[in-house]
Amino acid sequence: LTSKLPDVGTSIFSVMSQLAQETGAINLAQGFPDYDPPLPLLEALARHVLTPGHQQYAPMPGLPRLREAISQKTTRLYGHTPDPATEVTVTSGATEALYGVLAAVVQPGDEVLILEPAYDLYGPAVRLQGGVPVYVPLALPDFRPDWDRVAAALTPRTRLVLINSPHNPTGAVLTPADLDTLAGLLRDTDTLLLSDEVYEHMVFDGAAHHSVTSHPELRERAFVLSSFGKTYHATGWKVGYCLAPPTLTAELRRVHQFLTFSVSTPTQHALADVLPDSALYDALPAFYQQKRDLFRELLAPTAFRLLPVPGGYFQVADFSAVAPGLGDVDFARQLTREAGVAVVPLSAFYHNGQDQHLVRFCFAKQEATLRAAATRLQA
Ligand code: PMP
Ligand code: GLN
Repeated sequence: LTSKLPDVGTSIFSVMSQLAQETGAINLAQGFPDYDPPLPLLEALARHVLTPGHQQYAPMPGLPRLREAISQKTTRLYGHTPDPATEVTVTSGATEALYGVLAAVVQPGDEVLILEPAYDLYGPAVRLQGGVPVYVPLALPDFRPDWDRVAAALTPRTRLVLINSPHNPTGAVLTPADLDTLAGLLRDTDTLLLSDEVYEHMVFDGAAHHSVTSHPELRERAFVLSSFGKTYHATGWKVGYCLAPPTLTAELRRVHQFLTFSVSTPTQHALADVLPDSALYDALPAFYQQKRDLFRELLAPTAFRLLPVPGGYFQVADFSAVAPGLGDVDFARQLTREAGVAVVPLSAFYHNGQDQHLVRFCFAKQEATLRAAATRLQA
């Protein structure tokens, strides 16, 4: 068999989680919380699992009541009301939405612009469609896009630009000026936009998340993704959604109907029950900012150099002073084995494995976990 992705190994998230398990390390590698979803959500799921009639296929685009609740949430947060019938699609996590959008719009030979470092799925998923990833670097110290470089990378073959704010792994956050600049670059082109906003509720220091949904010009050409896994500490539920104008939504649904067809029914009912309670997601910026601040304070006495974290739930750190000369993959393995703390080497987010002596810590953990990890890191 000729592999379609011969150069792609097992995802770094699986590799590091497995190593953490084998070695008994505290897992700050793969991005998932070590606490449970809000009790009302768990109770709602239990209720719907026990409700006869809620156990069969949901409608292909998602339960109408969940799409309605998503539309209302979008109105409240971003001042735009997507039509639940034609502009909201419930997917099996943001992962399925990403793959579905790429499969729906990328033709062989199309270029897809990816800002790098980038979430590990983007490049391989583009290539599986016969697309050509075009990488534009996000540079230290703040990993903010250099729009001149983006402009220089756009060509008449650019089918799609992929953005991610707040950004995994760097935490960088786009501003309204960034969105205006991007809108200017895409104006008068046929280039589409995919905006991965799964960390929309994790923006710190009083700043706001600026969704592409709230940008009237950009949203006309955009797929905007979110994930209930992030919002409700429920990464294992694998439910997300995609907002897009009707013509784009129709194309996504053509693929979605053959990819997963529909998403688990009781989980959709449970999410529809709690989504109107805005207090649950309004609490998230402060909740995660406290974790970020605690983790940074705990790591301050170490030789790790901490990069700024304006959003998301990851801390990127330079380990040059901890282990001079060591590559990031070796360092991540050594830290896991010897210090008992698993992390992700940042080279995993580069198509060419670029190593800048950086690792990523996930701080979506209980205070006790963060303290225990810091004690090990200080030692
Ligand atoms: N995009 C980004 C940037 C992510 O970090 C993740 C989750 N790690 C996903 C997409 C996938 O989200 P989900 O778990 O809902 O499939
Ligand atoms: N998004 C998570 C991360 O960045 C992991 C998702 C996964 O394991 N596929 O760590």
